[in-house]
Amino acid sequence: MPTYALIALPIPVFTLFTYAVPTRFGGMVHRGIRVTVPFGKRTLTGVVVDEADHTDVAEVRELIDVLDAQPLFSEEILRFAEWMSEYYVSPMGETLRTMLPYGTTPESTQRISIAAIDVDAIVPELRRTAPRQAAVLLALSDHPNGVTIPFLQRKVGADNLHSQLAALESKGYIERTIEMEKASRPKRVRGARVASALLGDEPALHRLFDELDRAAPKQALVMSQLFAESERSPGVFHPVAEILERAKTSDSVIKALLDRGAIELEMIDVSREEVLSGGDEGLEDDNYESTLGDQVRDFVLNDDQRRAVETISAQVASREFKTFLLHGVTGSGKTQVYIESIRAAIAGGRTAIMLVPEIGLTLQLVERFREAFGDRIAVLHSRLSDGERFDAWRRVAAGGCDVVIGARSALFAPLRNVGIIVIDEEHEASYKQYDQQPRYHARDAAVVRAQIEGAVAVLGSATPSIESYHNAERGKYQLLELPVRVDNAREPVIVIVDTLTARRQRLMRGSLSVRMLNDVRARLDKGEGVILFQNRRGFATRLECGTCSHSPMCPSCAVTLTFHKHRHELRCHYCGYCRKAETQCVVCGSLDLRQPGVGTQRVEEELAEHLPGARIVRMDQDTTSRKGAHRKILSRFANGEVDILLGTQMVAKGLDFSRVSLVGVVSADTQLLLPDFRASERTFQLLTQVAGRAGRRSEVQGEVVIQTAHPEHPAVMAAFAKNYRQMYDDEVRTRRQLNYPPFSRFIVIEFRSADQKDAEQAARQFRALMPASGPAFEILGPSAALIWKLRNLYRYQIVVKNHKAQDPGGKIFARSFANAYEAYRQKHGKTTVQVIVDVDAMGM
Ligand code: ADP
Ligand code: ZN
Ligand code: ZN
Repeated sequence: MPTYALIALPIPVFTLFTYAVPTRFGGMVHRGIRVTVPFGKRTLTGVVVDEADHTDVAEVRELIDVLDAQPLFSEEILRFAEWMSEYYVSPMGETLRTMLPYGTTPESTQRISIAAIDVDAIVPELRRTAPRQAAVLLALSDHPNGVTIPFLQRKVGADNLHSQLAALESKGYIERTIEMEKASRPKRVRGARVASALLGDEPALHRLFDELDRAAPKQALVMSQLFAESERSPGVFHPVAEILERAKTSDSVIKALLDRGAIELEMIDVSREEVLSGGDEGLEDDNYESTLGDQVRDFVLNDDQRRAVETISAQVASREFKTFLLHGVTGSGKTQVYIESIRAAIAGGRTAIMLVPEIGLTLQLVERFREAFGDRIAVLHSRLSDGERFDAWRRVAAGGCDVVIGARSALFAPLRNVGIIVIDEEHEASYKQYDQQPRYHARDAAVVRAQIEGAVAVLGSATPSIESYHNAERGKYQLLELPVRVDNAREPVIVIVDTLTARRQRLMRGSLSVRMLNDVRARLDKGEGVILFQNRRGFATRLECGTCSHSPMCPSCAVTLTFHKHRHELRCHYCGYCRKAETQCVVCGSLDLRQPGVGTQRVEEELAEHLPGARIVRMDQDTTSRKGAHRKILSRFANGEVDILLGTQMVAKGLDFSRVSLVGVVSADTQLLLPDFRASERTFQLLTQVAGRAGRRSEVQGEVVIQTAHPEHPAVMAAFAKNYRQMYDDEVRTRRQLNYPPFSRFIVIEFRSADQKDAEQAARQFRALMPASGPAFEILGPSAALIWKLRNLYRYQIVVKNHKAQDPGGKIFARSFANAYEAYRQKHGKTTVQVIVDVDAMGM
């Protein structure tokens, strides 16, 4: 019997901890079992990762209790966690914790109840062999509705209680549930969101944040959370209690924010059922699908689809790991390929994971899966209530499901015998966990899990990420193509309007060109529908010349420089380059330098002015806050009660209306000139996606009008040519030159502190402890982060380009980082500066 256990604890420390195993737990402690241990004055729950017969650690303490009779993690999942922990530089304990749902920790409000057993028959025997277990059963027999663990602790004593429960559970004598709200009764709670007026007014928002950061840090914290929510689920009211809980603050903060006009409050429903059925945005109504047109269900796969399904299924059957990239234009029937491939895998006795970017935006897909797989499917996503998540997780762990479908965390589903993992819309940035450890990319991690499981990974997209396509190019993935739409709908015509020229010729009316207005008018005259798209710009502000549209770029990073108004500086937040902002355009000498950006609201006003009588509806966070508003807008548009649907990203994805014949992009430039090396790629993806909304009906010729001041930009030209390869080839050239992904791992090491000097100094100290740039990696910075102050924390960063050719597995970087981190801890261990590593960082 091993004498020591090596435990991963959920704390930000990279080592495992050694504890002695008391003899009373003989035979119970194995890899994958959870235990409680003393840690300082606290008790922590950890996972046994390894066992040992001896240890060099002095003064080893003993385990307190054992929580499971059977390992909660399969060997595959443990190995997967070990890879994640190493690759994403995230402590093993924290990594394992993110893989478990709430309810599996002993602190959660579990209820323990007695199973349908004959207590009188069992207890006498149990008294002899395990008296504590008998005592637990007796205590439970008085409480048919179950009791909480603290209650049991008072009743029978806390010693080894968890291991006794684990033993009882494995004998089938007890059952666990976790506390949850009544299933059907909706609960009314107070919800908050960022005031609509503020969201339309970027300068005011910045002013408010500056002011709050200075004067009212708690308010700033709450506000930044609400702001983050508004980015994620526009317009949705968020339960106040949840926000306060997360910010660890009180209601007075809400009141203060309300008084400032910074937020809005409303009573909202939060029922378990609502969250279960998915949408954040009022999409959950039963008749959602019917507003989106009819779906054909019984059809014969076309040749391309059939070939793809056969290839994938043969690979699954071989039980050998492989990754496929399914590149299929919008409407080419990718979803059907997923369904049929999964069906085949299940027929072969395997299970499947289906990852989607956001459940709320993919309800149609979820519906099709439900139809195909009935109740052998579990839907997991971040909006599930704790109770639902716990139930679903346990059902999956117990082998009650063949298919798990969900957003990125569904990747950790405790399925056994996984045969296929599908990642739909693999290019989507939402697959990256950006706000907590481990900062994993679910697409890349899915490929690794598939490898560990001996399964097949299928990445699907109409506009694959450069990384994935590059992997297909060099034979790491196998490319499968669906080049045509199943419905044979005609491709829309794309028109590019050069706004700079149009402005010179006096053919612009505000943000809309005469061409755009005329085309919209023509469609309206025929009673056809129009979608207009205007991306809101984010936090980053740049400068733009009003005469020639030039925006200053970093001389070495190929990203736009960010304009810092109060210091009148232009900064690159990749490499730290900084200069005084010019007052005159460096290209044409014009003095007309502006901070561009037009919101949807102003576009709406302009439309109303130039197209009197047109029925316009705006769909953005302001107009879709009320429950069901989203659906209502869509169905009014579908029925022809509205002529023009104007909106943000919300209108770019997934909508399928046959009456839409024209899609207009008010400005491609907001996306194109973001300070991000992926800006071109994203622009192409977005334009292609938006274009996919036009002309879904074969008898009408669809049209897409794209306004831009940069018609010669490669991403715009490739979208115009509907040529993915053109964009890819151009982009790969730039990425190779500048050593961006896929040629390097793009790593951001961030330093956060409430004190600006501390954060800056820590970044510099850390940089000094890292080696000079060399063949294995190039180090940029330190520099201020793009959002250099967030939640009252100052943020500085070091950017690393870890060259894959010279350091394929990233080991050289990992070693240098570990050394620097260790040295930094020793020298400056007392600081309060947080150090955060983001491997394969997506945005900044
Ligand atoms: P994608 O996921 O590639 O955008 P979908 O799988 O959603 O495409 O397919 C688009 C539409 O075509 C859906 O309504 C689907 O039901 C339908 N469809 C898919 N395959 C076929 C087929 N072989 N024959 C007819 N219709 C099909
Ligand atoms: Zn100029
Ligand atoms: Zn730079």
